[in-house]
Amino acid sequence: MYLYNSLTHKKELFVPNDPALVKMYTCGPTVYHFAHIGNLRSYIMEDVLEKALRYLGYPVKRVMNITDVGHLASDADEGDDKMLKGAKRENKSVMEIAKYYTDAFFADCAKLNIKTPEVVEPATSCIGEYISMVEQLIAKDFGYLAGGNVYFDTSKLAQYYVFNDHSEEDLAIGVREGVEEDANKRNKNDFVLWFTKSKFEDQALKWDSPWGLGYPGWHIECSAIGIKHFGGDMDIHCGGIDNAFPHHTNEIAQSEAFLGHKWCNYWFHVHHLNTQGGKMSKSKGEFLTVSLLEQKGYNPMAYRLFCLQSHYRRNLVFSWENLDNAVLAYEKLVSKIAALQEDGAVDAQAFAALKSRFENALNADLNTSLAITALYDVLKAKTNDASKLAAIADFDKVLCLNLLQAAKALRAAQPQEEVDPEIDALLAARTAAKGAKNWAEADRIRDELKARGIEIIDTAQGAKWKRMKVEE
Ligand code: AMP
Ligand code: ZN
Repeated sequence: MYLYNSLTHKKELFVPNDPALVKMYTCGPTVYHFAHIGNLRSYIMEDVLEKALRYLGYPVKRVMNITDVGHLASDADEGDDKMLKGAKRENKSVMEIAKYYTDAFFADCAKLNIKTPEVVEPATSCIGEYISMVEQLIAKDFGYLAGGNVYFDTSKLAQYYVFNDHSEEDLAIGVREGVEEDANKRNKNDFVLWFTKSKFEDQALKWDSPWGLGYPGWHIECSAIGIKHFGGDMDIHCGGIDNAFPHHTNEIAQSEAFLGHKWCNYWFHVHHLNTQGGKMSKSKGEFLTVSLLEQKGYNPMAYRLFCLQSHYRRNLVFSWENLDNAVLAYEKLVSKIAALQEDGAVDAQAFAALKSRFENALNADLNTSLAITALYDVLKAKTNDASKLAAIADFDKVLCLNLLQAAKALRAAQPQEEVDPEIDALLAARTAAKGAKNWAEADRIRDELKARGIEIIDTAQGAKWKRMKVEE
């Protein structure tokens, strides 16, 4: 499989450290509010990546954190602590908020067929790991204490900006934007590993540490949780593109300083879901959730298809019109599948040819829109229906669009056309009588059928019949 690696800025052949187990890490949600459909775009594409790897023969272990504490990059961060803001808004404790929105996140994921990772670790459950990591970073001279907080000293690194082609100056402006400078920092990009004296004095959750009562910085959680579950290396680290800097940049800085060697080989970044007004964002307050889509009558599978129709490295613009088009595409796809019949044995050769197109699409930097084209190709293929159904079932292990279930449900909802040779023969005789302008005979047959409880319906495709409802 070829994947674009943000670290090297090019597509590379994916080679895991151990082909028997791909170690995949995903930055989890900050659970102070519902996930919006932009966040879920990232999780859908990461889910497809995991399933594609499995489909292509790599066993995968996936780890995800839940950010239920902090989410502060530095003491200069704007505004309130997000978890605390959520708790105040809803008159609940921070832990109640975290539990409520963690459950809501996984409920949304289930609706979108996003698999739950093997390991889901709330940030609050690894405090001991962060403290130990911070202690070692200080011992290695990468961490320093200033104004009561522990900071990471980015000037000690040979290279800090690992992902971006931008100049250091451009990025530094990005860091300063909207935030006041934190006077404790030695260098503008230094970030907090552990807070004890924060301007957010009313932080609800605090733990004892060698530096006093406090709480962890945001970045340390992903490094420590990754290292806890995978040891000193991992194959793929995923997240939305907004996390590349500073979050992932800082994760790499502290993990590699701590380990003394390279940490993660491939970085997979999903680009944003935008509205016409710009990036969909949780902190802006107004955003679309899966529940809202459902309330408006949208099937979550149509949203999944909407995401799969475009490449993960392109910004995707959300509009109701675009979503409506995805609904139409989904319904058309399902109705075509519903028309397929189990008509015998699968043609192994035809199946292999269809499958190889699908695999090629996945192998080409997870080209899901091409994978959807491969699905349409199945419907057009010159082979029997059983082979088509087998290919669709196979592709849907990765696409997870509930295609066969939806087709089955559609068939069940359609009125069954009954077959009765005697009635069919009478109907044919009536049609022949009408053709011969023998109206008396045609009427007689109609009356005879009526007496048997059969109603004739004349349609553009010829005469059909149905049983009349028996009055109670
Ligand atoms: P958060 O809950 O804010 O930590 O974000 C969860 C995930 O969603 C992260 O991987 C973000 O990078 C990603 N994300 C945030 N906004 C968007 C967006 N508009 N489109 C796609 N992914 C996003
Ligand atoms: Zn993270």
